[in-house]
Amino acid sequence: MARKPKPVYHPPAAQLALFPEVSGNTINGLDETERRRPTPVFWHYGKTDLPHKPLQDYYLRQFDDKPELQDFHLKYGGRGDPRAPAKPEAPATDTPENWTRRIKAHALANEGDLVGIAAIDSDWVFEGYTVDEPWVVVIGVAMDHAELSKAPSIESPVEVMRQYNRGTRAARSVANFIQRQGYNARPHGGPMAGPLLLIPPAIACGLGELGKHGSLINRSYGSSLRLAGVMTDLPLVADAPDIFGADDFCTSCRICSDACPPDAIHGEKQQVRGMRKWYVNFDKCIPYFNDTQGCGICIAVCPWSTPGRAPRMAEKMTARRTRRAGDETTGR
Ligand code: SF4
Ligand code: SF4
Repeated sequence: MARKPKPVYHPPAAQLALFPEVSGNTINGLDETERRRPTPVFWHYGKTDLPHKPLQDYYLRQFDDKPELQDFHLKYGGRGDPRAPAKPEAPATDTPENWTRRIKAHALANEGDLVGIAAIDSDWVFEGYTVDEPWVVVIGVAMDHAELSKAPSIESPVEVMRQYNRGTRAARSVANFIQRQGYNARPHGGPMAGPLLLIPPAIACGLGELGKHGSLINRSYGSSLRLAGVMTDLPLVADAPDIFGADDFCTSCRICSDACPPDAIHGEKQQVRGMRKWYVNFDKCIPYFNDTQGCGICIAVCPWSTPGRAPRMAEKMTARRTRRAGDETTGR
């Protein structure tokens, strides 16, 4: 059956006028073949010299007449907890395995829905930032999919902010727990960027795979989730990645790219800072994203995000991967 043509989206002139000469894709390292650290481009409110700052300010101005969003946005913007406990003089001792168990139990008992541990890779640290901690605790919080699916109307970004705040509270709680044991811990949650990208460590520690829409796909919640993190020097044990077939599925699915109003989702993987991966065209996404206070259509329509569907899809895709591996072994 022929696909229904999508209405053409024209970015408003007021936004186009704010675009700098340099493309956001260039800043993000599109078509670069060497590995390098990411460059801040958006969400770094404190940085005043970013070429896309006028566009970021345009996004923030959208909140002026939306009290629903003001109630949530930036509520936990300071990242660190002003009531953070003082560190004891001597750090408590335990094995990395036990600390890992205790940290995960604490995160799950304090608003986290998912938690994993990754050893920090310096290629995840934004240029201009320093991260000396060897570990990041990545926390996932599920979104209410019914609210998310109202994108691009206001209920969807309200839900996004609500969950970013929950993730940040969970990260603060974990950081406070670690500090009480005598170790360093720095929490950070969205929507603003911290010193570190969060999707790559989330993938490294088994919270999901990268989808064509540029977001994480988790085997329980699909893309209906948000991330927060805690960088720490508490000795921990890293989790393994979880490859259950989301990346394979994206190869033959185009639901998100068909649904994206400005056609920002590319059908093939691209080279970005030395890695071949799914990548969303920043310059095409941002105008629509800004005018809808965060859009989110692509993660809402992703079939993995439909409540209850991801575990069944993961099971099927895993079985397919196992069969394929068996066929390769037997030469069929
Ligand atoms: S909608 Fe389809 S192509 Fe897009 S991320 Fe989800 S599974 Fe992948
Ligand atoms: S957030 Fe919206 S505009 Fe951006 S890629 Fe997703 S669907 Fe497209």
